[in-house]
Amino acid sequence: MQIRRASFPIYAPHPPCPFEHEDSPCLQRHGHYERNTHPEGSGRTRIQRFFCKFTGKTLSVLPDTFLPYRSINVPDVQEHFDRAQDHQSPVQSKVIRGCLNRAVKRFARADRATRLTDFFGQRLPRTSSPQALWKAMRHAAGNLSHILLELATQGKSLLGDYRCLK
Ligand SMILES: [Zn+2]
Repeated sequence: MQIRRASFPIYAPHPPCPFEHEDSPCLQRHGHYERNTHPEGSGRTRIQRFFCKFTGKTLSVLPDTFLPYRSINVPDVQEHFDRAQDHQSPVQSKVIRGCLNRAVKRFARADRATRLTDFFGQRLPRTSSPQALWKAMRHAAGNLSHILLELATQGKSLLGDYRCLK
């Protein structure tokens, strides 16, 4: 499972365990791996990994600019979604455009809209388009970092619900 650093307190040395079990404490540092800092493959960022000794599952702590499970960064997604989502920026590389297009497609799926609308409950109106849903989420929760933080409290993210994925 991947979580962003902002989803647990700055003073905490490691995250709370997201896996359900009775005993604690359980998390131990479990090495690290490197991930591309930018989707095009440039830059390397070190990702700390933790191991839950009761469930045998691992947890990775991502820098806050990373979107969990996607090779695209939070500022790029926010910027792209804030514009009309079909906007093609001439300055973006083909790789980033591909990632953003996949993100938009995923966000536009009906099941995603339902889950996000359910999550934010009465703070969001029932909307008919992905663009309207995005606008309503921004209005209700703030920037994408804040949106992700709220979603993470229930194991969710913008484009998927991670507790359901293994
Ligand atoms: Zn645990």
